[in-house]
Amino acid sequence: MSILLKNIIPVLNAEWIGNTPEAEVEAISIDSRSLQNSSHTLFFALVGPNNDAHLYIKDLIEIGVQNFVVTYIPEECKAKANFIVVQNTLEALQQFAAYYRALFKFPVIGLTGSNGKTIVKEWLNFLLSPDFNVIRSPKSYNSQVGVPLSVIAINEKHNLGIFEAGISTVTEMEKLEAVIKPTIGILTNIGSSHDEGFENLEQKIKEKLLLFKDSKVLIYQKNKLIDKCILPDTKTFSWSFEQENADVLVFKKQTENQSTTLHYKYKGNAYELNIPFQDKASIENAISCLLLLLYFNYDSATIQSRMLLLFPVEMRLKVKTGINNCSLIDDSYSSDFQSLKIALDFLESQKQFQKKTVILSDIFQSGLSNEELYSKVAQLIVSNNISRVIGIGETISEFKEKFTHCITFKNTAEFVSNFENLEFANETILIKGARSFQFEEIVYLLEEKTHETVLEINLNAISYNLNFFKSKLKPDVKIMVMVKAFGYGNGGLEIAKLLEHHKIDYLGVAFADEGISLKNGGIQLPIMVLNPENTSFSAIIQHQLEPEIYCLKSLHAFLKIAKHKNLERFPIHVKLDTGMHRLGFEEDSIDELIATLKGNVHVEIKSILSHLATSDDVKHRDFTDSQISLFDKLSSKIVSELGINPVRHILNTSGISNFPDAQFNMVRLGIGLYGVSNDPSEQKYLENVGTLKSVISQIKTISAGESVGYGRKFMAEKPTKVGTIPIGYADGISRAWGNGVGFVTIKDKKAKIIGSICMDMLMVDVTEIDCTEGDAVIIFGESPTVSYIAKKLNTIPYEVLTSISQRVKRVFYR
Ligand SMILES: *Cc1c(COP(=O)(O)O)cnc(C)c1O
Repeated sequence: MSILLKNIIPVLNAEWIGNTPEAEVEAISIDSRSLQNSSHTLFFALVGPNNDAHLYIKDLIEIGVQNFVVTYIPEECKAKANFIVVQNTLEALQQFAAYYRALFKFPVIGLTGSNGKTIVKEWLNFLLSPDFNVIRSPKSYNSQVGVPLSVIAINEKHNLGIFEAGISTVTEMEKLEAVIKPTIGILTNIGSSHDEGFENLEQKIKEKLLLFKDSKVLIYQKNKLIDKCILPDTKTFSWSFEQENADVLVFKKQTENQSTTLHYKYKGNAYELNIPFQDKASIENAISCLLLLLYFNYDSATIQSRMLLLFPVEMRLKVKTGINNCSLIDDSYSSDFQSLKIALDFLESQKQFQKKTVILSDIFQSGLSNEELYSKVAQLIVSNNISRVIGIGETISEFKEKFTHCITFKNTAEFVSNFENLEFANETILIKGARSFQFEEIVYLLEEKTHETVLEINLNAISYNLNFFKSKLKPDVKIMVMVKAFGYGNGGLEIAKLLEHHKIDYLGVAFADEGISLKNGGIQLPIMVLNPENTSFSAIIQHQLEPEIYCLKSLHAFLKIAKHKNLERFPIHVKLDTGMHRLGFEEDSIDELIATLKGNVHVEIKSILSHLATSDDVKHRDFTDSQISLFDKLSSKIVSELGINPVRHILNTSGISNFPDAQFNMVRLGIGLYGVSNDPSEQKYLENVGTLKSVISQIKTISAGESVGYGRKFMAEKPTKVGTIPIGYADGISRAWGNGVGFVTIKDKKAKIIGSICMDMLMVDVTEIDCTEGDAVIIFGESPTVSYIAKKLNTIPYEVLTSISQRVKRVFYR
């Protein structure tokens, strides 16, 4: 892309404040963290309900970014850059993308539906790439933000676009349609679920069909309801398993060895097609692809040869623990320029190690000549401060000279045989390769070998939940997030890094050593230590942590050290006991507290806090109200007698929900961030963060009368198929969850836990489930939820979450 700034202004209908309208824009960005931001970037400062990218403009100007689309110009940035001022920066991004899209005239396939869009998109890309230079949405970029970003990546060399659109409520599709302007439409499986953003299924379908309002053709599976909703002018090309009047009539034939034979009738002729899948969803998605190929007039032999090679699609970037203290980012399923950019941004946002290695295969389908392409890749590598590139493939080997610190191998096997000499340690490694290179072998070599049980943490869900709670806060109320107990079992450092990016105000931990490991990991946010032992005060001071002081004895001890070290105004937090009766100054010790601190120059009260005992239970509302008013009274007294202006805070997660008037100047968010609420009506609004997963190690069928496990606690009454799963009470699964109380989820079905849970294993009944050894098992996540387990076990979600042992590997993803 190369567009003059002055040409963008009228497109956005905007006010212009700046000096260099002739500035050239070569890239668009919305991510302040991206190292790809440069003087030719146009940065759109998006504003979410709780995030405001205007906050990052100052930093961006410092690193050389000069062009911004904003709703206002931050005070300290005035006259320092070019600003295009608009009403709404997201709409501006969409308008820009629509303008940019209109510069290109080639066919564009637009996809929507409830399921399958990303898979069909990836498959079509694979099927059509021998004949076209395809530009497609990277990953699942299908949102109001993702779609414009996808479209903006088009260049002059592309001659076919494939973009997906996802919506969650009415009015959204219109905007995406204007950006994508598909000439060919594909509606994938629409699902029958009643989505929250729509009144009913019909409304959902109508809304989705708006994507195709100007398309030349719509490809879809025939269905009465959809037929009723299709706009009268839309030309269709349909398929069906049963309706004779569909353009393509499909019959499913035998399935064997993981594959399916389909017979189809088209224009009066009958054909046969083999696809390497058996499940219903994959078959439907493959048929959508078939129709597109027929529409493009491919012959049945070509269709067959290409479709036989379809593959499962993995779209997520996964962070894994590597050997020798490395951290891996596994993106071993695709290799195109656009997704490389995304992966590099992700690498940067992880900020784990100084040293960064990229293992990269040949790159396909850029539309550019190899010369141009690898020059661009090399530039990208430089701007992302990559320490070393390991190129794998014939083509990238040819262009090795373009990179500094680069070694190359002709193929993956050559890399593998040289693995021992490559020395990977204390670094972040991005593994990015096209499917055909089988980089999963490389991931396997680099991955730390632990057992197969993992706790997967969805970082996007954490951001989402944070924003949900932020939206409940009055303006200027600060937010502290409790990351004690290893982020409630979810991983301390990774989550702290994400929170730092979200510019929260404080972190809270229970003990000094938790705070120290965060500081050692590079966290710069202030950290309050709830439970500082007197013996840890020196370490607290040394690492710039901030102790909570909860009694005169510890106050005196801390003051003594502070004086001895000659500290000035060292931050401390004063905890008041207003009824919890755990830690804190009681009412009768407040006078002495004030007297002790009067005139003291060694410490400064940064905040005064108290903790609620029953904020989750509205039955005890009166008690909570009395805690809040006592807190107000005592803290006001300290404030006025000492003449200070500290932050005051008392609310935890359920306090935020139930006592919105007691926010004072800050709140302390805990369990809610991790997607768990004490209140079922609120739970609906939170996204699940942690999924504890394992696999089936072995399956056996036992006869009636045989037993399972220690103490023969399960007796089979009929032939029973038993699956053994390698997770037990030493991993944090309560024994009380065994013996028919609890269940796990396998292939979306419940499998009851039978017999007693062992130290490292448990057994489940899979008689009714079509599963095999190695299949994935969900211990908790969407189902069963942590809250459900807690309820059945007569405990609270906090205990279930924090019980998961540290030997269970945590895997973070977006
Ligand atoms: C753990 C904790 C919190 C957070 O509680 P949640 O119920 O998880 O939100 C807040 N304040 C203090 C003092 C805590 O110990």
